[in-house]
Amino acid sequence: MELNLSRDEIALQARAREFSQSVVRPRAAAIDRDEQYPWDIVKALAGAGFLGMTMPKALGGQGRSFLDAVLVIEEMAKSCTVTARIVVETNMGALSTVMAYGSEAQKKLAAGLVLAGDKPAICITEPDAGSDALAMTTRADRRGDKFIINGKKHWITGAGVSRLHLIFAHVFDERGEELGIGGFLAVRRESENAAKSLRVTRREQTMGLRGMPEGELTFEDLEVPADMAVLPPSGFRRGFADLMNAYNSQRVGAGTVAMGIAAGALDRALDWAKTREQFGRKIGEFQGLQWMLADMQTQLTAARLMLYAAARSRGPDGSAFPDPMLAAQAKIFASESAIKIVNDALQLFGARGYSRDLPLERMARDVRMFTIGGGTAQVLRTLVASKMLGWKLPQTRDGYAPNPSMRDAAE
Ligand code: FAD
Repeated sequence: MELNLSRDEIALQARAREFSQSVVRPRAAAIDRDEQYPWDIVKALAGAGFLGMTMPKALGGQGRSFLDAVLVIEEMAKSCTVTARIVVETNMGALSTVMAYGSEAQKKLAAGLVLAGDKPAICITEPDAGSDALAMTTRADRRGDKFIINGKKHWITGAGVSRLHLIFAHVFDERGEELGIGGFLAVRRESENAAKSLRVTRREQTMGLRGMPEGELTFEDLEVPADMAVLPPSGFRRGFADLMNAYNSQRVGAGTVAMGIAAGALDRALDWAKTREQFGRKIGEFQGLQWMLADMQTQLTAARLMLYAAARSRGPDGSAFPDPMLAAQAKIFASESAIKIVNDALQLFGARGYSRDLPLERMARDVRMFTIGGGTAQVLRTLVASKMLGWKLPQTRDGYAPNPSMRDAAE
């Protein structure tokens, strides 16, 4: 099933599949067991040209499309979720925000770090500001040619391993007047100041994805040069909405990781259905399981088609990012159906599926996160409904964002 892929896309997919099976798969169980970020895999991914593929050629990238990235992510996720997420975040996420809105100096900084193996971190969520991101309290105060950042973020992917951080904060000018929400680039360990003032203050104990650190970051008087503010053309006032628009590529990437895990689980279940015998027959001969397999495949195909369509799409006004409506629907459907597919694949293995000897239990833990991270399935449904109805649907009791100047960003 080629799904209208070009020759070049099929060749890239085949190369990623071979890499995933020969380099990544043998390491996957140990990455989960040891809870260690896989620097050896990062080096191999860099060598194979899978980091920074979507960056322009002038910056050392390959000018590849989001669909190219999706094809690679899917193959990696069939073997190892942590590896797939590294490919997402070195081709989408904070990196695509910088590539869309950053200055030349910011783009060069991000490109250099990613090509050298860095997985940039995006820092939005706070203990009291999750789905309601506008409620964040982290602030950036202008002092001469710098911004001083203070605050706390949690559940930051890559905490302690990422060097480049895109930190979201309320921005205040020298007179203490709020300008809106902005994104700021800070490099961990770049200077004495950054090392002390950008600290990992806790590692989250996660259910799955254990080789990828999730952590709490504390910023204490973190100094960021003013030219490291990532400013969309709309400026700070409407900037948060534009910066979050870049997140649509990340959503497609996250949905693809979920879909890839499901595809890997289904491959294994299909093999088992053709080999395991009970009652003197292959278990795949039982119609109860045949229909289960058919349902799994149907959901997988639908998720894949939605994700490919979203990756190929462009948002309104020629945006550089996937269409928000398609990206949200694809992530909702892929993340929810992947949980069901992996669960059914595990069921097909009986007791063996429940054992740590096989990857099904790891896949079941890993896949659970994708209805949560990067916008929950509930919040994304609100986004879809808002576009369908043509209404802004702010969720606060009085119907407005906390700061009236940011009503646009709350849509
Ligand atoms: P809450 O917002 O407290 O939501 C709790 C529940 O209420 C959820 O079910 C939610 O869907 C529901 N809910 C909330 N509001 C509404 C509403 N208006 N209508 C209907 N239902 C609603 N954040 C980052 O900034 N950077 C990262 O790198 C990052 N990585 C992550 C990695 C992992 C593995 C995970 C699990 C999370 C990560 N996050 C990251 C955080 C993630 O974006 C948040 O968890 C998410 O936005 C939800 O916020 P919350 O956990 O505070 O849940």
